[in-house]
Amino acid sequence: MLRAIMSSTPAWDIRDAINLYNIDRWGEGYFTVDSKGGVAVMPNQDHQRIPIADVIAEARDRGLGFPLVIRFQDLLRHRVKTINRAFAAAIEEAGYKNPYRGVFPIKVNQLREVVEEILDAGSAFHFGIEVGSKPELIAALGIHRDPDSLIICNGYKDSSFIQNALLGRKLGKMVIMVVEKIEELDHILRVSAEVGVEPWIGLRVRLRTKGAGKWATSGGENAKFGLSTADLVEASRRLHEAGLADSLKLVHFHVGSQVPDISTIKRAVREAARFYSKISKMGHQLGYLDVGGGLGVDYDGSRSTFDSSTNYSLQEYARDVVYNVMEVCDSEKVAHPTIVSESGRAIVAHHSVLVVEAFGSIEKAETRAPVPATVGAPKLVQDMEEICGEHSPLHRLENLHDAQQIKEQAATMFDLGLLEIQDRARIETMFWEIASRTVELCRGMRHVPEEVKEVETALADQYLCNFSVFQSLLDHWALGQLFPIMPLQRLNEQPERNATLVDITCDSDGKVSKFIDILDVKDTLPLHRIAPGERYHLGFFLMGAYQDIMGDLHNLFGRVTEVHVFLDEDEDEGWYVEEVLEGTSIGEVLAMTQWDTKELVRQVKSLVDAAIKGDRLKPNQAMRLLSNYEKGLKDYTYLSFPEK
Ligand SMILES: *Cc1c(COP(=O)(O)O)cnc(C)c1O
Repeated sequence: MLRAIMSSTPAWDIRDAINLYNIDRWGEGYFTVDSKGGVAVMPNQDHQRIPIADVIAEARDRGLGFPLVIRFQDLLRHRVKTINRAFAAAIEEAGYKNPYRGVFPIKVNQLREVVEEILDAGSAFHFGIEVGSKPELIAALGIHRDPDSLIICNGYKDSSFIQNALLGRKLGKMVIMVVEKIEELDHILRVSAEVGVEPWIGLRVRLRTKGAGKWATSGGENAKFGLSTADLVEASRRLHEAGLADSLKLVHFHVGSQVPDISTIKRAVREAARFYSKISKMGHQLGYLDVGGGLGVDYDGSRSTFDSSTNYSLQEYARDVVYNVMEVCDSEKVAHPTIVSESGRAIVAHHSVLVVEAFGSIEKAETRAPVPATVGAPKLVQDMEEICGEHSPLHRLENLHDAQQIKEQAATMFDLGLLEIQDRARIETMFWEIASRTVELCRGMRHVPEEVKEVETALADQYLCNFSVFQSLLDHWALGQLFPIMPLQRLNEQPERNATLVDITCDSDGKVSKFIDILDVKDTLPLHRIAPGERYHLGFFLMGAYQDIMGDLHNLFGRVTEVHVFLDEDEDEGWYVEEVLEGTSIGEVLAMTQWDTKELVRQVKSLVDAAIKGDRLKPNQAMRLLSNYEKGLKDYTYLSFPEK
């Protein structure tokens, strides 16, 4: 791929950009490059397109700051319909005897507008909600309307959690409390008796099948949740004893998120269907089998069992779930259950794009003439000059090794006070020149030596990006998860630089230096050289799952501003911004960490007054500075670059 970038083929077109960034592979038909060289979104996978550049322009017109999250609400709706239709098609094809009733696990993206959109788009399919905590349940009870859709309650529960779930039952909602450990069953039975409501109960089974990938620990015998086989038998006994055998409605499992390999899903589903069948025969009117989450997203587009990918499609997943449940239940002569799934990631990942402004770059081998050597400079400098003057490819590796050694020596001599700063500068400038020449000379070799690859990575530029990895890209930092990242403009031009990305936190981990690749993981991303005065935007894609809510306030960079975009049904090319959610202001993040902003202003004002009295500040100057300070509290926490 690098070869393609550096080769001098002049005929670059958007097809090359599409291939370079693999957009057709991870984009699922939702993203493409338009004829102007920008990225366009196709929320319904059809002819209707929204150029991201236009949304950016609109956001700037409205005075919004960057970074900016753009939510494509129609795309979200399309995902909801796609998963429901995939199951409906699989059910139809297999002749399966009961429907699919999916639920959205609200923890994957709790933003009200997102949840509302999902429920609305899913209403024709009786799509419900899954919650895992009290706050999530409280939200769900308020927003849930369709009496034919489920509310599934996972996670450990206390009395108040149980009471609220029972309130839902009283209101005529199909609320199912999933028992995560055996003591919880007694608790549910006790509180239900007190409240006088018959609970609907599910059992989470602990499968032998373990997920693979980064979230594997949700399954297997050491999982934190779920009932062992002995617990299941005991739970059945206790339910019969309480006269509530018919309250048991559902069997649930969850092997973890982003399961890369379909064979894991098949094994887990078969194991769970067996439990379902056996428990049914223990005298319970079960009706639902809940296969949890885990349906993955192909972040790198490689269609493989790599952690950031999946080796299966959504349709294949639905077909395998339906087919395997059916086969096991048929063999056990048990009626087909209604199939529930709790896919979050696969529903919300695609709809949101993070737009980040790159505001500068640090280049190693800058095209800068070496400073002259000082009089009486050590021989080291001369040695480097000699290597630098040699252009023949014959000794390219030897020269690189020698240059590396001289650079090391120079640093040591400098530390000891034996080398002038000018001479060190001269040596380093020459070193980077030799390094980039070596990389060029090795290009096209079948096996590029390891040390050359290392220098090549070291030569990569660092693009300074106005965002925080810890707020917007937490799974990349914490788990090494990869997201597709690419420039949003100039895709009709060949990118000539290779770069890593650094954020504006003061944390050395605040960077992105691993990028998607079909075969492997790349250390650098091809980008264009930022022109003077240019606003160069990068798009971070498939960001809608988990990242929004898990971000933290490292360096007090707060929530990112969002715009919600809808297609305009009356116009073929039209779209509009339905809503703007302003990001956190400086005053707000300070308040979250216990700073009283009024008190801060008072304190600064008293310092300013003292400075005026002491004649260190003129009054009008002082008032300007003070009002700037006060205004600053209302500012966005990220950097703001004026129009150039
Ligand atoms: C997190 C979670 C999900 C969502 O998983 P995805 O892989 O995002 O679909 C579903 N069910 C349970 C119990 C979960 O904990």
